[in-house]
Amino acid sequence: MPYEKDFCASCNRLRVSAIGNLHLCLFGDGGVPLRDLLASDAQQDELQARIAYSLGQKKQTHFLHQGNTGITQNLSFIGG
Ligand code: SF4
Repeated sequence: MPYEKDFCASCNRLRVSAIGNLHLCLFGDGGVPLRDLLASDAQQDELQARIAYSLGQKKQTHFLHQGNTGITQNLSFIGG
């Protein structure tokens, strides 16, 4: 259950929405725009760098216990 301690400890979940935003957590806010780097293979290095940097920002847990459900009202938007 998502409220269990350590539920997120081994999380490797990432989603990319239909509009090209990278979501680091199903209960996160916003998203990292990737769309501008998806148009050309020549941008692959920059795309990888942005994703790698973003992964460094991924929180180690959700914030449901603090009442923050992020974008869950719109999970269907990111395929969740
Ligand atoms: S709540 Fe977020 S960090 Fe936790 S397992 Fe789900 S996607 Fe991963």
